[in-house]
Amino acid sequence: STFEDAGFSKELLRVTANFQKPSPIQAQSWPIVMSGRDMVGIAATGSGKTLAFGMPALTQIRSQPPCKPGQPICLVLAPTRELAQQTAKVFDDAGEASGVRCVCVYGGAPKYEQKNAMKAGGGAAVIVATPGRLRDFMEEGVIKLDRVTMLVLDEADRMLDLGFEPEIRAIAGATRADRQTVMFSATWPMSVQSLASEFMCNPVRVRI
Ligand code: AMP
Repeated sequence: STFEDAGFSKELLRVTANFQKPSPIQAQSWPIVMSGRDMVGIAATGSGKTLAFGMPALTQIRSQPPCKPGQPICLVLAPTRELAQQTAKVFDDAGEASGVRCVCVYGGAPKYEQKNAMKAGGGAAVIVATPGRLRDFMEEGVIKLDRVTMLVLDEADRMLDLGFEPEIRAIAGATRADRQTVMFSATWPMSVQSLASEFMCNPVRVRI
């Protein structure tokens, strides 16, 4: 398959212009996620999974009115600061071609810099976050999730292992009921399966 097959706009195809061909997880994910279905991907980091949901997310964002600070359209939850920053970097690299801003929020660092990043340059349509810091910002009213149309749970198994289930529950509950949900997990234990059945609507499962 090719990047053109997925139905992205000409402008967005500039994001993938330097890549030779879609990675296997991208080739499998794009038809599913672009059709609006929920998806569970069993895939590891380094597989190109960020753009597997990122390109459809950028497509949704570009079809919607601009964001206000703290009101993202795409919300990505990640278990650790390192993974959150790695995911945000893929969106940042895409930013020049996509025109879409991304902000990364995580614990263990001062809040004021992250708040300033959210205010700078208008709103960020993508927020990549660790669950604890995101919930803090929701409680402070700094982030509102009522515009989220794509929720991504990245490395869901690790988030559960780290005890983030209450945060995930609170966060997912604050998003629109009609959102699209994409989950990635390296493993598929019962705990992840029940999270998927609670927060996803008839998801398509993809394994690479
Ligand atoms: P990820 O698995 O999403 O963390 O992506 C790992 C790296 O692969 C990132 O730096 C991406 O820029 C890069 N990448 C994503 N898609 C492709 C592709 N189709 N071909 C080559 N590299 C890619």
